[in-house]
Amino acid sequence: MPIMRSPAWTEDELLLAGALVVKNGWRELRTGNPEVLELSELLRSLPLHPSEALELPGFRSPDSVSRKTTDFATNHHLYTGKPTRCGKPTLLMIEAFTSREADMLQAAQALEDSIGSGELHLIPSQPGEVDDTGTSAIEGRLLVRRALARERDPKLRMQKIKQMRRRGRALQCEVCDFDFGRAYGPLGEGYIEVHHVTPLHVSGVRETKLDDLACLCANCHRMCHRNRPGESWRTPAALRELMRASSGQAALLPRSREFGPAEQ
Ligand SMILES: [Zn+2]
Ligand SMILES: [Zn+2]
Repeated sequence: MPIMRSPAWTEDELLLAGALVVKNGWRELRTGNPEVLELSELLRSLPLHPSEALELPGFRSPDSVSRKTTDFATNHHLYTGKPTRCGKPTLLMIEAFTSREADMLQAAQALEDSIGSGELHLIPSQPGEVDDTGTSAIEGRLLVRRALARERDPKLRMQKIKQMRRRGRALQCEVCDFDFGRAYGPLGEGYIEVHHVTPLHVSGVRETKLDDLACLCANCHRMCHRNRPGESWRTPAALRELMRASSGQAALLPRSREFGPAEQ
């Protein structure tokens, strides 16, 4: 039987370990600390890794959790001693906790709450929760999984589309105004994708409301969800800003570069 290597820490796990260190004033926590023991047990219960991982010596053991808190503490910019060596995902998580402490603590709390409620163990993994490089949003795979499962709920989708119609609004992309019916005729009529707008750190265990959902075209939807290391998903409003900024730049390009050789 091939020997499995201990799986790398995912963003979810780093989020929980990071929150522990932040609440401890950016100081490491020792192996015997009750909070370390508790986190070790919690991490070993998450539906993230193949069950064989549990057989591996040291898999998310109190020792390994304590070592991770040392990585967080010693790689923080205020630490004056020698930093331990850690991977890029840990450094990105430190950066996220440093620049957006309240959001990240809230995300860790949302994750803990959904683990506690048993909800996360019931949601099957979703296509697109990590990209092909293994990256998820900085808030981690499990909150992403929950958001994706919610917005793919066909009942909720239907209700959202009905709500738009009731309000007399055209079924078009809230970011770029793309209208499937206008572009594709009868084939596109009534088609729109539904996106969960509430940022991952805010969406708790509460029920999804129709106003938590936005209607987007397939392109804008993909761009809201595109995973980039160390980043959160973009909200439709943020995506609109990005589009505005980049089309502003495009206007500055010389025509010859934008459209090929200039016409004579
Ligand atoms: Zn769009
Ligand atoms: Zn979405």
